[in-house]
Amino acid sequence: MTKSPDIIRTLRPETRLVHDGTLRSNFGETSEALFLTQGHVYQSAEECEARFKDEVPGYIYARFSNPTVAMFEARMASLEGAEAARATATGMAAVTAALMGQVKAGDHVISARALFGSCRYVIEEWLPRFGVETTLVDGTDLNAWKNAVRTNTKVFFLESPSNPTLEIIDIKAVSEIAHQAGAKLTVDNVFATPMQQRPFELGADCVVYSATKHIDGQGRCLGGVILGSEQFINDHIKTPLRQTGPALSPFNAWVLLKGLETLPVRVERQARSAAIIADAIADHSKISRLISCNRKDHPQADIIAKQMTGGTTLIAFDLKGGKDSAFRFLNKLELVKISNNLGDAKSLVTHPATTTHQRFTPEARLEMGVGDGLVRLSVGLEHHDDLIADLMQALDAA
Ligand SMILES: *Cc1c(COP(=O)(O)O)cnc(C)c1O
Repeated sequence: MTKSPDIIRTLRPETRLVHDGTLRSNFGETSEALFLTQGHVYQSAEECEARFKDEVPGYIYARFSNPTVAMFEARMASLEGAEAARATATGMAAVTAALMGQVKAGDHVISARALFGSCRYVIEEWLPRFGVETTLVDGTDLNAWKNAVRTNTKVFFLESPSNPTLEIIDIKAVSEIAHQAGAKLTVDNVFATPMQQRPFELGADCVVYSATKHIDGQGRCLGGVILGSEQFINDHIKTPLRQTGPALSPFNAWVLLKGLETLPVRVERQARSAAIIADAIADHSKISRLISCNRKDHPQADIIAKQMTGGTTLIAFDLKGGKDSAFRFLNKLELVKISNNLGDAKSLVTHPATTTHQRFTPEARLEMGVGDGLVRLSVGLEHHDDLIADLMQALDAA
């Protein structure tokens, strides 16, 4: 068995997602093998010593690396066009390690304020506990990023499109401000998926994913991944991950690896259905505002056209009548399930104000665009007409 999985960068993403990173054992299996092992045995004490010194290739212990996890990492790196990738147990483990690996006490981080709730916790509460200063800005306002820069600013962080309001940030412009300030930009690319937005080409230094979402795509397991240049991963990520231990289970890596094979097909179909659904329900009398990256009336449609290659699988809308109306709508749905996950084969709906964003004050929620009537819909693989029928009957009753 070879140590480094083959990567063929000239082939198209769909092809690479089926083949890249495959490590075949002596049995020549067709599908990627699941190496459910904690450790590895050595021919001699000398070989063991050499492996620990990194003098000869090979695996040591599953907290550091594992053949199945390595296949997932290689396939992700190939897809993203990154030199290196490191898998983690969850998306939040990836976000936390990516941020903490780049800073020490006395450093400063600037982040867009429209964030997934747990990402905002890490920025607002977790990093400051270790002496890292953080500033939250309106990510759509380029001057706000510029004005927040300090001499000790090391990291810029953003999510675009944001969760749940699909706010768009000009990644290229923000990366230029970060680099002028001598800082590095980390992008959480979960909502766009690797199929619809390529942050490295827009200037990002690090990209993170919750693989729990579209990469698994079938609601089975948690996972995360951090991508960057070889040097970035070596300087900031490799040793902290090895020593602190948020490793991805080989079993979950195997599930995610198989998920990558079908990612382009699923995301394309789900995003197309999301666009059809958005147009079908946008004018319903119970909806006061609908946000979709596929529609011309998205407030930042010009930036979407510049930096994304497709709309998202998610849409968000405000129901007239606030929480009562939103809850009536959710409770009336039959096909679409109430759940806070996203990117799943099953269409899922959530009420952010009482779930993912419930720990914020009403003022902070409003600042993030999360009103009491806001509903987020993750469109699955069901037929779009069946989904429209379900959504319409529930909207009528809202
Ligand atoms: C879900 C999510 C995360 C966290 O991922 P987990 O796998 O649940 O830990 C981070 N960022 C965004 C944008 C997400 O949607």
